[in-house]
Amino acid sequence: MGNKTYRFRLYPNQEQQQFLAKCFGCSRFVYNYFLRLTTDIYTDCQKSLRYKEWAKLLTSLKKEFEWLNEVNSQALQQTLKNLETAYSRFFKGLAKFPRFKKRSNKQSFRVPQHFSITEESKLKLPKMTPIKMVIHREIEGEIKSVTITKTASGKYYASIVTELEISKAPLNGEKIGLDLGLKDFVITSKPEKFPNPRYFQRSLRRLKIRQRRLSRKVKDSNNRNKARVRVAKIHEKVANQRLDYQHKISLKLTNENQVISCEDLNIKGIVKNRKLAKQISDVAWGQFLTLLEYKGDIYGCEIKRVDRFFPSSKRCSNCGYIKEDLTLKDREWTCRECHAHHDRDINACWNLLQFSDGYIEQEVSESTPNQTVEMQCIKSVSS
Ligand SMILES: [Zn+2]
Repeated sequence: MGNKTYRFRLYPNQEQQQFLAKCFGCSRFVYNYFLRLTTDIYTDCQKSLRYKEWAKLLTSLKKEFEWLNEVNSQALQQTLKNLETAYSRFFKGLAKFPRFKKRSNKQSFRVPQHFSITEESKLKLPKMTPIKMVIHREIEGEIKSVTITKTASGKYYASIVTELEISKAPLNGEKIGLDLGLKDFVITSKPEKFPNPRYFQRSLRRLKIRQRRLSRKVKDSNNRNKARVRVAKIHEKVANQRLDYQHKISLKLTNENQVISCEDLNIKGIVKNRKLAKQISDVAWGQFLTLLEYKGDIYGCEIKRVDRFFPSSKRCSNCGYIKEDLTLKDREWTCRECHAHHDRDINACWNLLQFSDGYIEQEVSESTPNQTVEMQCIKSVSS
């Protein structure tokens, strides 16, 4: 069994918007309340509260703050589960310490049960009338949960998660190596190259103008809010374009192949380099790898992460000769031993593929991790 997610636009009426605001507010309140409580108790007596304790306390909290009963109770429990996830991601070193949720950011709450899609294809949630929803593609599988979000610019969406039987793609045995870069976003051993569209870079001028206008507005004024929405809209558009592009590439690659070997980049480590941080967050490699793994699960394509310390550019994928004097400027090179001519990036993809198949031993990893990560960045920028 596998999961699929659908994102549909919602058009709540005035009354429904008010109720949704209440749901977002209660969920935010519960999240922030337990985050503060847990931090305070830990500071006082080094005892960590978790979901089990929170859920018990939530019951008494609802007696104290009766308005919490007006919204779906399972959505509030779900909020506590999200908080638990935030904590465990922090302890695993995958994220920063959980932060308080703010009203001006993106708002969301999840409904795990007791919701449905009506015959007029509206979304029926507990305790409210059905909301108009635009279903632009057919929903496959059994519906498991729905998350309602309101973006910073004021748009509403429903993310519906379904569970379905996975029909594995026919075993065609296609294996590819895949490299990520800044000039070309994705390079494969096939060979294929997908350019980096630099969506953020392209809207930068417009964004700067709007941000300047926003900074001139009087604090807490109506005009400031309007200006804030305009800035948020540009950010949302960029994020949507990028996601759309990555969906298309990841779908194509997972449909056409059985195994994809790619470098296991330490993305957080790279972003610490300030000069590159903007370009790297624009390209969103992490999001792409997540999509690749998620689609790989659905379409039966295995994603193999290869140790990122492996010097994949310098090795001839034909004979194994290591060209130590390969510089960052060399986009193409010819092997001294076997005279094979290589495109730098595609050669690297072939090496990744061979490495993950066990053809190459780990012994070649001489350079330090940081060097390799920096190299990867400089390589991409200088090209
Ligand atoms: Zn060679």
